[in-house]
Amino acid sequence: AAEIFYEDDADLSIIQGRKVAVIGYGSQGHAHALNLRDSGVDVRVGLSEGSSSRAKAEAEGLTVKTVAEAAAEADVIMILTPDQVQRTVYADAIQPNLKDGDILLFAHGLNIRFGYIEAPQGVDVAMVAPKGPGHTVRREYEAGRGVPCLVAVEVDASGKAQEIALSYAKAIGGTRAGVIKTTFTEETESDLFGEQAVLCGGMSHLVQYGFETLTEAGYQPEIAYFEVLHELELIVDLMVEGGISKQRWSISDTAEYGDYVSGPRVIDPSVKENMKAVLSDIQDGTFARRFMEDQDAGAPEFKQLREKEEGHPIEATGRELRKLFVWTDSDSDYTEGTAAR
Ligand code: NDP
Ligand code: MG
Ligand code: MG
Repeated sequence: AAEIFYEDDADLSIIQGRKVAVIGYGSQGHAHALNLRDSGVDVRVGLSEGSSSRAKAEAEGLTVKTVAEAAAEADVIMILTPDQVQRTVYADAIQPNLKDGDILLFAHGLNIRFGYIEAPQGVDVAMVAPKGPGHTVRREYEAGRGVPCLVAVEVDASGKAQEIALSYAKAIGGTRAGVIKTTFTEETESDLFGEQAVLCGGMSHLVQYGFETLTEAGYQPEIAYFEVLHELELIVDLMVEGGISKQRWSISDTAEYGDYVSGPRVIDPSVKENMKAVLSDIQDGTFARRFMEDQDAGAPEFKQLREKEEGHPIEATGRELRKLFVWTDSDSDYTEGTAAR
């Protein structure tokens, strides 16, 4: 069985006795930095000169330094820039400032798993990976709760990497929910698979096909939007609360029967074969290489795909509809229709 840690398994005073640098102030970065601060940890944020995030961090009263200064001051360095720039930020500004006894932390294992970052001898490498978006990590912490996290240790030079990681997880609220032990390999491969095959890639394209099928058959787009997108939240909440069984218990018998007879017609065994092919591209590094090479070239493929997907008709329908209803509790930083971020 998986090893799970809770509040009593982690000692907050360890991280309170360290100097922590959070590199990046985006989705995860802002949540980690603010939660650490509110847990009584000495934290500074590392950003590049002229960073657009600087004003936001300073407005919260956080200390902002360059990445190099923050890394040099701190002995715990959490790297929370986008995965595709971590390698460069690390080589330019972090590695030259590492010393024996420091610990490098990640919230996702991609750069370590695929060898884009290697730590010098004498430096610990560990992971504290919240299993939720940064804005939820912050919101849950403020509500006295937490988002479940994964912890992993890749290099344990000090012999204390795990207790430091657990202490960090406690400071951001993770042990309030539960922290599961894993490895960099397992986290990286399963995280990429989950987001590509099911959570993000699978779900987005399932919803798009559902919307296309209904609207091409002449149903109103607004109705199609409700049936294939809006109600998802309610279904997913039930699944998270009590598994697929609770979801099936709550829906009508009609819906439940339709699930059993039509679900396997839509998601047929060929889908599982496709999933296996996706997993194999993740495991052998094909996906990581394609992503990094595109990013290194200025992300032409990524930008083109983003533009194309944002142009899907369900987005325009949703944008208009959401203005007309009051259910939406829309999130802080996100602006509708920002294809050209
Ligand atoms: P974001 O895209 O939100 O990070 C943006 C931040 O990184 C901004 O503050 C940006 O500053 C800064 N940044 C970008 N480039 C540089 C650079 N070259 N030097 C210094 N700072 C830079 O990242 P996420 O929070 O999405 O992801 C961070 C890590 O967390 C990743 O490893 C990701 O896989 C992992 N993760 C993310 C989750 C999420 O909820 N998004 C969930 C779990 C894990 P500026 O304003 O100057 O551009
Ligand atoms: Mg991920
Ligand atoms: Mg219905």
